[in-house]
Amino acid sequence: MATLSPALHAPAVVILGPGALATAQRVKALYAGAQIHALQDRAQGDIAFTELGEHLRELYRRGTPLIALCAAGIVIRCLAPLLANKGIEPPVLALAEDGSAVVPLLGGLTGVNVMARAIGAALGIAPAITTSGELRFGTCLLNPPEGYALSSLTQGKRFVSDLLAGDTTRIDGDAPWLDNVDLPRNAAARHAIRVSPQAWDGNPEHLVIHPRSVVARATESPALLAEYVREALAGNGLAEQALAALVAPVEHMGDAAFEQAAAALGVPLRFVDGESLDALKLPEPHRLIEAGHGITLGVADEPLDVSTLGRARGRLTVLGLGPGCADLLTPMARAALDEATDIVGYATYVEMAGPLRPGQVRHATDNREELQRARHAFELACEGRRVVVVSSGDPGVFAMAAAVLEALEGAEDLRWRRVDLRIVPGVSAALATAAQAGAPLGHDFCMLSLSDNLKPWAVIEKRLHHAALADLVMAFYNPISRARPWQLDRALEIVRAVRAPQTRVVLGRDVGRPGETLRAMTLGELQSSDVDMRTMVIVGSSATRGFGREGARDGSMDEWVYTPRWYK
Ligand code: SAH
Repeated sequence: MATLSPALHAPAVVILGPGALATAQRVKALYAGAQIHALQDRAQGDIAFTELGEHLRELYRRGTPLIALCAAGIVIRCLAPLLANKGIEPPVLALAEDGSAVVPLLGGLTGVNVMARAIGAALGIAPAITTSGELRFGTCLLNPPEGYALSSLTQGKRFVSDLLAGDTTRIDGDAPWLDNVDLPRNAAARHAIRVSPQAWDGNPEHLVIHPRSVVARATESPALLAEYVREALAGNGLAEQALAALVAPVEHMGDAAFEQAAAALGVPLRFVDGESLDALKLPEPHRLIEAGHGITLGVADEPLDVSTLGRARGRLTVLGLGPGCADLLTPMARAALDEATDIVGYATYVEMAGPLRPGQVRHATDNREELQRARHAFELACEGRRVVVVSSGDPGVFAMAAAVLEALEGAEDLRWRRVDLRIVPGVSAALATAAQAGAPLGHDFCMLSLSDNLKPWAVIEKRLHHAALADLVMAFYNPISRARPWQLDRALEIVRAVRAPQTRVVLGRDVGRPGETLRAMTLGELQSSDVDMRTMVIVGSSATRGFGREGARDGSMDEWVYTPRWYK
């Protein structure tokens, strides 16, 4: 079963009106990274949404714990369509706006009652806990702590109902989290809670909980590796749920067969130098079992801390944050940010990537040396860290992705090539601006950076001239800056020599950020003083046109600008 690590999934605190804000803020303060999601035009939060049902379902699908400050019935109705399909079930709670009641609704196995208790304690109220096992024993026996896994949920439910019906139990093995739990204990009981890496033998009176205390080290990566590991475990009476990690020699970092085997087994893949398992420094006491197919099992008594077993394959994700607002950050980029250990980038963008979890390290620099930043990111990834490099907009459009690849191509360090490198796209400024204006990029267009920092100005002039001749719509990035004061005027001169003064122009400034402005004008009217380095300039083609638009908001345009799909 999929489990949720609360550290990776900060809850969404959802409010529908200003009356809920004070309570929402108290609850938000309990969880690092929590955000207040507020109904647009009704309340002010960290994130605005327009339709409650859709928003709750989207969060639920992503596995985000939900604390909704509204009637329980509303939450139930909104999520009902998703409940038949039991995948990951994040905790869902309804909380009275005034903080007078908290009701855990869903997510019994992902800690909803733990959250309800914490919220209850913070607000000084009794949580409405209805799970019978929890009520009686003060904990959910079927939700063991991190590092342990339940052998069988069905069997677990039967066991809990036996205890509720009056049976007593003993505890075999080490279950420190049950020390202070009010269980009907009896050393001579037939029922037993067994804590052991050994597989459940089918005894209906046993609740078996496995410490994740076993590692499997393989030296080769045959296609059937996952199967061989399962056989090795079964052959030695060990439960698959007791497996904490698959371990491979460091030379196999990046070997897809190992990655697939680890994914099939549902455990992390870790790497060690050399042949011997000694390098893993398994805690004492432990035993080693040679199991065939080059597989060695290491079995400890206690759950293993996977983060100390050798090291992970480092990951480097270059991602685009979009123009600025959270709604235009893709879920894929959000997920990469959430699971990152290190965030590398220009200070403004690292700030934009927030809020971060405690423990995530920011490497914000003001230097513009992109290659140096890319190399730093690889060095971090080589230590096994999960690094993200952030750019605004799309990382491949005048941004870090090309710098990262350039660093990799020139690298002498072979370890860099073993890093799991991914590039996650984002909404580029030209696309965000175009969408606000209508569809000026509806026909052939080009994107040009007017910065001559890394290319000769003569090349820019030549491209502008040809693009103008080709009647392409043009999107200008980096149109002007204090260090490049005259270039835009010169660029406009070149375009105006070919294109008519009535050509449509759209300027988007700080699109998707606070203080966003959009303006439409003609090429004849455009002056370089209308533009700064936070502006996107879109110059239309001969076919780009505009017409009046009703109900334009402040700061937005009073016309639609578009370029037709056809061309005469
Ligand atoms: N990778 C970025 C572009 C970086 S170049 C992207 O894909 O959007 C920086 C230039 O992008 C700025 O000079 C400006 O022209 C444009 N830009 C970036 N963000 C913008 C925004 N929010 N609004 C308008 N223009 C923006």
